[in-house]
Amino acid sequence: MRELSIGSSRIELVRGDITAQDTDAIVNAANTSLLGGGGVDGAIHRAGGPAILAECEQLGGCATGDAKITTGGRLTAKHVIHTVGPVYRDGRHGEPDLLASAYRRSLEVATANGLTTIAFPSISTGAYRFPIAAAARIATATVARALRAGSGITLVRFVLFSATDLAAYEQALADTAAGLQKEEKKR
Ligand code: ADP
Repeated sequence: MRELSIGSSRIELVRGDITAQDTDAIVNAANTSLLGGGGVDGAIHRAGGPAILAECEQLGGCATGDAKITTGGRLTAKHVIHTVGPVYRDGRHGEPDLLASAYRRSLEVATANGLTTIAFPSISTGAYRFPIAAAARIATATVARALRAGSGITLVRFVLFSATDLAAYEQALADTAAGLQKEEKKR
C-alpha cells in the first residue's frame, strides 16, 4: 500500500531523496547536538547550506524523542524539523516509545507553526540501527493516530531511500490501515 487517506489527510510513501521534497517542512534525523552528522543529516545541511547550521547552533541541542524547527535555507521546503530518534540497542531500552515520540513531536512542531505538509525520512534505521520492519510499523501507526486525532496536517509523505525500505513501509502501512479498520468497527 502506497497511500492511506485518514479523514481529509493523507499518508503517502515514495522512494526518493528527502532534500528534494516540496512539502512545507522536511524532517531531519538529527543527533542530540543538532550540529550535523552523516546520512540524512549531512545531506540536508549540504543541500540547505550554512543558514540551517547557524540556526541549529542557537537551539542548545535536542533530547532524544523531541523535535525543533529551523528554516530550510536553500531547500525547496521552507522549514526543517530536526528530531532525534533513539540509538537501537536491544529494543528494551525504551526505543519503540522514543521513536514514536520523535514522529509525534515532529508533527506537533509542524502544527504549532501552522504547517500542513511534511516529509519524513526513516528515522533511526540508518546509523542508529533500528530494525526496519519494526521502525516502519511504529512510524506509520504513530502518524496515522496523530492524523486521526486531527492535527491540521493534510499530507505526511515518507521518503524512503532504498527499494527494500520502501517495501517495509508498504507492508507497515497496510498493517496500520487494517488496524485502523478494526478499531473503527469496534466503535
Ligand atoms: P539515523 O541516525 O536516525 O539512523 P540516518 O541518516 O543514518 O539516520 O539514516 C536514516 C535513513 O535515511 C536510512 O534509511 C538512510 O538510508 C536514509 N537516507 C540517507 N540519506 C537520505 C536522503 N537524502 N533522503 C532520504 N533518506 C535518506
